Amino acid sequence: MTPMSATAWLERAYQAHTHHLPESERAKLRVVNLLALIGLGLSLTYTLLYGVVFQSPMAAGLNLLFVCGYVAYFGVLHLGTVNASRIWLVGVYLVQMAIFSLWVFPPESGLHLFVIAGIPLAFLVFGHHDRLLRAGTVLLLLAVFFLAETLDAPKLLGHLPHAYYRTTYLTVVPLITLLVAIVLQSFLSELHRRDEALRQLSVTDPLTGVANRRGLLERAESMQAQASRLGLPMCVVMMDIDHFKAVNDDHGHQTGDHLLAAVARALRDNIRKEDAIGRMGGEEFALLLSNATLAEGLQTAEHLRKQVGSVQVSGGKGRPLGCTASFGVTALAESEGSVSRALARADKALYRAKAEGRNRVCGVQPALSQTG
Ligand code: GH3
Ligand code: MG
Ligand code: MG
Repeated sequence: MTPMSATAWLERAYQAHTHHLPESERAKLRVVNLLALIGLGLSLTYTLLYGVVFQSPMAAGLNLLFVCGYVAYFGVLHLGTVNASRIWLVGVYLVQMAIFSLWVFPPESGLHLFVIAGIPLAFLVFGHHDRLLRAGTVLLLLAVFFLAETLDAPKLLGHLPHAYYRTTYLTVVPLITLLVAIVLQSFLSELHRRDEALRQLSVTDPLTGVANRRGLLERAESMQAQASRLGLPMCVVMMDIDHFKAVNDDHGHQTGDHLLAAVARALRDNIRKEDAIGRMGGEEFALLLSNATLAEGLQTAEHLRKQVGSVQVSGGKGRPLGCTASFGVTALAESEGSVSRALARADKALYRAKAEGRNRVCGVQPALSQTG
């Protein structure tokens, strides 16, 4: 189980309390959980070190208490108080650091360096709105660090041979580096994930879930490049729902929205994976059909016209409501630099379909000799 899959597993245990949080907060919580898991793992390892190698049941027992403290963090989180769980986690860490660097180990062991690692962690755990808690934690950590450096009080493990301290020191420094690297890595992957999600949002139409104009044009570019590279034909289809204004006027905007989404689903479900669909605005959609001649494009559009005609949503008072749509189809000429001219041509064919009575498919060749 990787650390991130462990945190995903943990997430399910407290999901009921966090599903209302924005994704950014849940992402941060995942990183904090990872920190708690690291704290738990490191404390367990040190407990073994104190007990088995340093032969100090007192230090081992004391550290075991903090292991329980990290486990309890997940309990507090499970009870549903995210803020309290954060304060608990930092509290456990602070007290553990204070006891071990002021009372258990002399400064030459380097254990108090963990205190300094706590400063970036405090920034991670306490967000923008918890500035006071963050500042307080940083001040306390600095105080513990300087006290550990200067206080000359007797230490519980002050009698160990120098080599033991040296070994501890040599483990502390790489562990701190590793800790910071893990946290940075998890932040980077979170950033990447959110970048991807944002990008996806910027090319998706929220009402229908299909691509928006920008998304379709982006896809058009790559499809066109592939078509010309492989020397394959490609078709562009424009589609517009007939008399949609009347649907809104008679049944309300919300019903209109439902119908729009249902039509988009019907279109999307009836094209191939390698084709593309996008909502160009209002009740107008564009489709890009890869490896399709004009004749094949007209055939597909005719099939889609029938599918759209069979879409039904509840129009209120239990009555089903459907619609028809008009289609304009054109093939992409080999010499065409971008699909924008083909889109304009398909649009013209669409207007011809409207003019000829709607609920039909019209096609036009790239050279503007019309068919269909
Ligand atoms: P035609 O057959 O000539 O296309 O007639 P039409 O009524 O469909 O055409 P028109 O362009 O006059 O009207 C389009 C309507 O689509 C007007 C607008 O209120 C509606 N519309 C545009 N976007 C949305 C939307 O997101 N949701 C809903 N419910 N309606 C929308
Ligand atoms: Mg319309
Ligand atoms: Mg329209």
